[in-house]
Amino acid sequence: AWGGLDQLQLGDRFRQLPADLYRSVSPQPLKNPHLVAFSTEAAALIGLDPCQVSAQQLSEYFGGQRLLKGSDPLASVYAGHQFGGYTPELGDGRAVLLGDLAGKDGQRWELQLKGSGKTPYSRHADGRAALRSVIREYLCSEALAALEVPTTRALCIIGSETQIYRESIEFAAAMVRMSPSHIRFGHFEYCYYSRRPDQLKQLADFVIEHHYPHCAIQPNPYLAMFTDVVERTAQLLARWQALGFCHGVMNTDNMSILGVTLDYGPFGFLDEYQPDYMCNRSDDRGRYAYQQQPSIALWNCVCLAQTLSGLVKQADLEVALNRFQPVYGVAYTELMKLRLGMEGKTDQDGALIETFLQLLEQQKADYNNAFVALEQAVEGNREPINRLLGGATGFTDWFNQYRRRLNDNATAIMARHNPRAILRNYLTQQVIERAELGDFSELAQLHAALKAPFAAHLDIYSQSTPDWGKNISLSCSS
Ligand code: AMP
Ligand code: MG
Ligand code: MG
Repeated sequence: AWGGLDQLQLGDRFRQLPADLYRSVSPQPLKNPHLVAFSTEAAALIGLDPCQVSAQQLSEYFGGQRLLKGSDPLASVYAGHQFGGYTPELGDGRAVLLGDLAGKDGQRWELQLKGSGKTPYSRHADGRAALRSVIREYLCSEALAALEVPTTRALCIIGSETQIYRESIEFAAAMVRMSPSHIRFGHFEYCYYSRRPDQLKQLADFVIEHHYPHCAIQPNPYLAMFTDVVERTAQLLARWQALGFCHGVMNTDNMSILGVTLDYGPFGFLDEYQPDYMCNRSDDRGRYAYQQQPSIALWNCVCLAQTLSGLVKQADLEVALNRFQPVYGVAYTELMKLRLGMEGKTDQDGALIETFLQLLEQQKADYNNAFVALEQAVEGNREPINRLLGGATGFTDWFNQYRRRLNDNATAIMARHNPRAILRNYLTQQVIERAELGDFSELAQLHAALKAPFAAHLDIYSQSTPDWGKNISLSCSS
């Protein structure tokens, strides 16, 4: 049933888990909270009627002044491998789980408030989030959702006059994040490395009951769940790579047990095609560079496998891990073929994709716009692709071979798979600068474009990044 915020009724399912895994907390009120952005698409998922909510109400409920009916907020502990090393206690330092509720199609969603103040897991930090960082997460999660990439969602952003101290003084904001679950690989690692196999089993049972119910009837439900997690993670990575999305901080505490994109920090989309692109300024060794992402995801699955060693035989875990590469490979190739407009299957497909990427790299061509230019070339306008790739050795041979591979409806397929609006870091940066001055109109405009990424848009959303805005890398400080 559609209703307003007063009608939402939250459950506290997470409290079925062992009490060591979470602590009760209260969101801390923000000073003069005000609505910055609201996603009607995310609202629809939980049956929230945009006509029945006001900016005032949203600010009160999510600015830390009021609680939704049934809400009994908590923060959760987890651990994780950060840049390859194990850190025993991380947890929701600045995220509070408000509760879970039934969405429109029976799916249950958790609502989390990110940036609502200190929690028992904040360590030395303040539990707050800067406006710029929640704008980035809001825009990117809604953009990826529109591109059919599994992701957490963003319901709204609440701005405030609460001051926080980062590289300079900034204003704090909060964001409401939604996902069927926010459980991470790191939750399993916490139980495993604190030597609590009983708690680990309860956690695994909880995840199976609520998120992998079809695994419960398998001979070994834990193995079935793990196999699904590996496959979903491989599918997710195929989508990231095909889109040119770089996450930036693929620590195991940022890996979702549902295989959805989780935790938007210093992420970036490729501008020019550069396989070793790094968007995280603190990642000096390039551990999380674009081309490393699939193998890091698999490495993270190995970390998760380790935690299940008491519930699943080693040999079975290895069989499940061996699913990653083939699932990833097939999914990636299929997605790239759609972007290139190639139907069916031929022996040359892999080589056509590979050579196209080499041409892009040779010319430092804009990754996403190259697909659009190719689509225009197939329609008869070769000027844009010649501008991008015309100078590359082997381009004409490749193009002729590619052209012969296509069927009549190639451009219709391409138009549905090649976004015209990409959340480039410099666009986000411009929106943030306006928002920090209190003007949210550009944020709303960019969000509108990202909701319909395959439609025609203002040139600013589809043009390649100007030189000054290329390869922006960001720090984790937010
Ligand atoms: P991240 O690298 O952004 O995923 O953060 C790592 C850990 O630090 C997580 O447990 C976060 O919840 C926590 N954290 C990050 N920023 C803050 C902050 N401003 N206040 C409290 N905890 C934070
Ligand atoms: Mg994180
Ligand atoms: Mg983060």
